[in-house]
Amino acid sequence: MLKIREYVKVKTLEEAYELNQKRSNRILGGMLWMKMSDAQIQTAIDLSGLGLDQIEENEEEFSIGCMVTLRQLEEHEGLAKWSSGIIRESVKDIVGVQFRNLATIGGSLFGRFGFSDVLTAFLALDTYVELFKGGLVTLKEFAERERDNDILVRVIVKKTPGRQVYLTHRNTKTDFPVLAVAIAAERDGARVVVGARPLRAMCVNVDDAWKEKLEHADCTPEELRELAGELAEQVPTGSNMRASAAYRKHLANVLIRRGLFELHDRFAADTGVDMDKGGQQNAD
Ligand SMILES: Cc1cc2nc3c(=O)[nH]c(=O)nc-3n(C[C@H](O)[C@H](O)[C@H](O)COP(=O)(O)OP(=O)(O)OC[C@H]3O[C@@H](n4cnc5c(N)ncnc54)[C@H](O)[C@@H]3O)c2cc1C
Repeated sequence: MLKIREYVKVKTLEEAYELNQKRSNRILGGMLWMKMSDAQIQTAIDLSGLGLDQIEENEEEFSIGCMVTLRQLEEHEGLAKWSSGIIRESVKDIVGVQFRNLATIGGSLFGRFGFSDVLTAFLALDTYVELFKGGLVTLKEFAERERDNDILVRVIVKKTPGRQVYLTHRNTKTDFPVLAVAIAAERDGARVVVGARPLRAMCVNVDDAWKEKLEHADCTPEELRELAGELAEQVPTGSNMRASAAYRKHLANVLIRRGLFELHDRFAADTGVDMDKGGQQNAD
């Protein structure tokens, strides 16, 4: 059972950071993951009085405070529009609405959980995290780092034009994903992110020649299958109680292929290309 001796609702981030340097103290997010542990916490540090529970939008980016809940992410129209709906899609199967009303983006990304839908989807976008001491770093770099005692203050998502898709496979509807795949083709490049491998989500870049063919909706079904196979080959998978490494490898190929077909369809719809060459109906 989780035990907390003292509770402090901090007035500044500096105060939170100072308290968080002691190993037995802990920042609180929505506490949904934390409460499952047997940790003995000396001082629980509550950031909820710092106004970090808002999603702000301007012409260049979204700035998402660390206390923003998964439900706020799910319901935000601007984020849905700029992410082709993948943020909404990535959180919609996480337990239930009451749960998503409490779980925070800060806790979800700081935890860098191997099973994370949230990390997988945000890695596909042009995302940065703002750390209190560490400043602004790409989410990709942050995801590769080990945990430290910094504070994740905000998540910044740049409004980089592009198209994205998100797919998962779950053994039952609200279970952890067996595998999660996000694909983005954006102005600066195309990438495939594979999460719940069950290791931490990883990013594989799609080379520019393929990206261009995708964006012009100029791929045959055979080419899309070939590309999916090449990308899936680069993703190491592991086994746990939900699935074996071999099954995940197979799933990676299937989900990447479906995602590529979907993306290709969307680009075709944008450009008015005849879909006889590679429509969704060709994905299996
Ligand atoms: C039963 C269950 C099922 C789940 N299923 C899924 C799923 O299918 N897909 C999925 O993606 N996720 C899933 N999750 C994870 C969930 O969505 C959240 O990611 C998780 O609960 C962490 O968010 P939280 O707000 O509860 O953080 P907390 O539990 O409060 O904190 C998690 C960790 O992050 C630290 N922390 C929190 N905020 C900050 C911050 N701002 N700066 C620094 N450190 C911070 C805390 O100290 C703690 O160590 C599941 C969780 C549970 C309990």
